[in-house]
Amino acid sequence: MTENKLTHKCKTCGAVIKISPEDLVITCQYCGETYDVDFEKIPGHKMLPTQDKRTIKENVIAFLDKNRTDPDLATITEIRANYLPYWVVPFNSHTHYYGVERGSVTRYRTKTRRVKDANGNVRTETYKEPYQVTVWRPREGDFNRNGKENIIARKHTAFYGFNEFERTLYLDNIIDFEYDKIEAAESDFINAEVDAHEAKMDAYGKIENDNRAQAASGLHKLVRCDSDIQTGDPLYVHAPLWEVRYTFENKVFKVSAAGDSGKVVKGEIPLTLKRRILNYIIGMLLIVIFGIIGNVGLGMTNVADTETTGIILLIVSVIAMGFSVLPLKNAFSIQLEKSMEKDIHKDRKKKLKARRKALKKGDK
Ligand SMILES: [Zn+2]
Repeated sequence: MTENKLTHKCKTCGAVIKISPEDLVITCQYCGETYDVDFEKIPGHKMLPTQDKRTIKENVIAFLDKNRTDPDLATITEIRANYLPYWVVPFNSHTHYYGVERGSVTRYRTKTRRVKDANGNVRTETYKEPYQVTVWRPREGDFNRNGKENIIARKHTAFYGFNEFERTLYLDNIIDFEYDKIEAAESDFINAEVDAHEAKMDAYGKIENDNRAQAASGLHKLVRCDSDIQTGDPLYVHAPLWEVRYTFENKVFKVSAAGDSGKVVKGEIPLTLKRRILNYIIGMLLIVIFGIIGNVGLGMTNVADTETTGIILLIVSVIAMGFSVLPLKNAFSIQLEKSMEKDIHKDRKKKLKARRKALKKGDK
């Protein structure tokens, strides 16, 4: 952050507002009115409400508990929300594409075989044997995609857990902006460094890329893709991301939570000496035990009767020994990192499914 603060008098309440030179959208800390760089009012400023501090704290404690870290030994030293600026850009788009699809057709070849009839006479008969051939077909289609694109209005966002936060952010349940609500949550309010015009351009690029990805899904190769995109007036919205710090055995760890759901999106888990030793023992045991089993398996491969069992034992042992990397890695690190990857993964799968569905609908 630069210390070079400018000031400006608020047109609405007359208070002197502090401004950073990089801010392109400014909200008055006293009356909550929002302005652009020319000090013209920006109407319709919205916000995503947040869960209160107590709920966030409870969720962080539950997160530690779930990850086998005794919450009684952890001290929360910092807990605050950052209200991050977003532009929500509504859009309509129509996409037309050409591509190549990979498919297969069944062909038959004529073969002969010798069969015995009921009388025991051997004769030769011909039959058709099916086989698959890969074919490439041209495909053309179009689809409509409408919605809204959330554009972060900061140039650099170095908040812990920011990517996880963004991937779970929908900005659906927004309410009218009120500065009092920010203060009640003891939050940091962050002005935008990206204006509405730039946000629209950013959104245009993202929409085009997503349309291209949707067209390419299910195709072997996308040859041409044209998107006709209309963007509407962006809505200025602030969304809360909580940053929590706690100490455990004299070390500091971070946890982030999404304000609207109150859910932890990412967090660091301390690995105590006890847990590290346990991981070390498990890792070493895996190597030793499966080393022995693997050796036994190797011996068995020399005897015809036990050859298959021996090979299976050998394969299982090699895989199990490979897995010893996981506990051993933990044995030599200070902390673990847990994030909502599962939820995010589910979310992505859902989106992909919806995309495929939309594609099928749009095809002619
Ligand atoms: Zn004001």
